[in-house]
Amino acid sequence: MAEKISSILIANRGEIALRVIRCCKELGIRSIAIYSDEDVRAIHVKRADEAYHIGPAAPAQSYLNMAKIVETAKGAGADAIHPGYGFLSENENFPEMCEKNGIIFIGPTAKAMEVTGDKMKCKEVMNNAKVPTVPGSDGIIEDVEKAADIAHKAGYPVLLKSAFGGGGRGIRLANDEKQLRQEFEMASAESKAAFGKAALFVEKYLQRIRHIEFQLIRDSHGNGRHLFERECSIQRRHQKLIEMSPSPVVDQKTRERIGEIAVRAAAAVDYLNAGTAEFLRDPEGNFYFIEINSRLQVEHPVTELVTGLDLVKLQIAVAQGEEIPFKQEDLKMNGCAIECRINAEDPFYDFAPSVGPVPTCNIPYGPGVRVDTYLYPTCTVSGYYDSLVAKLLTWGRHFDEARVRMRNALDEFAIEGINTTIPLYKTIMEEDNFIKGDLSTDYLDRFKIFDKMAGDVKERTKDRASAAVAAVLLQSEFVKKSGTTENNAAARSKWKSRGATS
Ligand code: ADP
Ligand code: ADP
Ligand code: MG
Repeated sequence: MAEKISSILIANRGEIALRVIRCCKELGIRSIAIYSDEDVRAIHVKRADEAYHIGPAAPAQSYLNMAKIVETAKGAGADAIHPGYGFLSENENFPEMCEKNGIIFIGPTAKAMEVTGDKMKCKEVMNNAKVPTVPGSDGIIEDVEKAADIAHKAGYPVLLKSAFGGGGRGIRLANDEKQLRQEFEMASAESKAAFGKAALFVEKYLQRIRHIEFQLIRDSHGNGRHLFERECSIQRRHQKLIEMSPSPVVDQKTRERIGEIAVRAAAAVDYLNAGTAEFLRDPEGNFYFIEINSRLQVEHPVTELVTGLDLVKLQIAVAQGEEIPFKQEDLKMNGCAIECRINAEDPFYDFAPSVGPVPTCNIPYGPGVRVDTYLYPTCTVSGYYDSLVAKLLTWGRHFDEARVRMRNALDEFAIEGINTTIPLYKTIMEEDNFIKGDLSTDYLDRFKIFDKMAGDVKERTKDRASAAVAAVLLQSEFVKKSGTTENNAAARSKWKSRGATS
């Protein structure tokens, strides 16, 4: 059995860094943050027990700089590293490097990560374990002729997918052969640029589907549990926007059946720690496995609200060699939880990124409300990193209580200076089909949600103009009062900013 973890370096930033730091505080674990030039004033830096500067703003030179991060962890005497999500969290070289340096990686083994990171390899393992997958090519497709041949057999429309893809990138739709030929080159190039490999495969494009996933946890003693489902069908560009649990179409019997398949899928790849098995569900109720995400998921708090469990605590327990402290039948689902991903994007302009200073913000609270965010008044949203600025969650005894609480919390949530996805969610919370639970991954287009939102455009433009004025006023006020710039603000604070290697 591994020793108890007494210090953790968090190899991430933003809300997820704060999430892990909070857990460390609860457990009496020393928390160690890292930060780039861009994040000198970030709140995770202040909240951690210690913080180390690791490089310039560009992720490749900071939050993706594995060697520097591991060196920093060693210098700080960290027992373990938590990778969060994104950045290095699914890079199989990271657990390997941690292990070589005597640091516990809070996540799966390099081997399990390698299999799950390769969607083709993972599908093969699932097929052998009799887990249903989406029909398509059996392996990577080298040339467009072969792709056309397989697509013809599977029947159009088809999707071209990057075998190493993630975050909805590298996925392209082809309705016919002509389009397939056009998209093939672009998809290869996109995959190469984003994931380092051009490897593509073909999958039948399933229509009017729901994205339903199961939260998993597995320990080093071979125990695996699922923590029920999350429905994540409301998406844009194959990326999740709203998640909820339970799914309106999953009854207890289905939950047990698919949950068992998910646990089996995790066992088939000898999975360790927290992960997620993603499925697509067609209108006939068939489930198809698509992938395992080998990390803590963005939407993990949805599961925390309905199970009462703390997933980060569980991750730490499993990472230090403990057994999962409950049986499958001990778990009960309580009420309903909804999450809206508040992105710094303009939903009126095709989700264009919107960055800059946030002079003020008002964060909602009250019964059944949880907000995971890195925002604070006078903070700045950087264009270097992910657009997620906050996760707004509500819990209710049933769906409608959670939904109404969400609508009200969205009304209270004010973020000045930037545009966010909040107006979109306000529209959805009042939309008939959402209320009925008629969800699918094409929900936004199918129900013309953008047209329904259009009435708010004027309000938004006004907001934007007044916010810009407020930002300028507040910034000058701030500088006047404190007589400070960002740099000496950092120097005045109590953060340690020793670089471990330089
Ligand atoms: P989730 O399933 O947790 O919702 P997402 O697909 O939204 O996950 O991705 C979570 C985060 O990880 C996002 O910030 C996304 O940009 C990032 N991400 C996901 N996959 C990759 C990848 N293969 N490479 C780099 N970043 C990724
Ligand atoms: P990523 O690794 O980028 O998360 P996934 O394979 O998990 O990619 O798929 C992301 C999203 O793309 C799904 O939630 C779904 O909306 C859509 N998608 C993926 N595969 C299919 C498919 N075969 N048919 C229809 N939609 C799909
Ligand atoms: Mg996915």
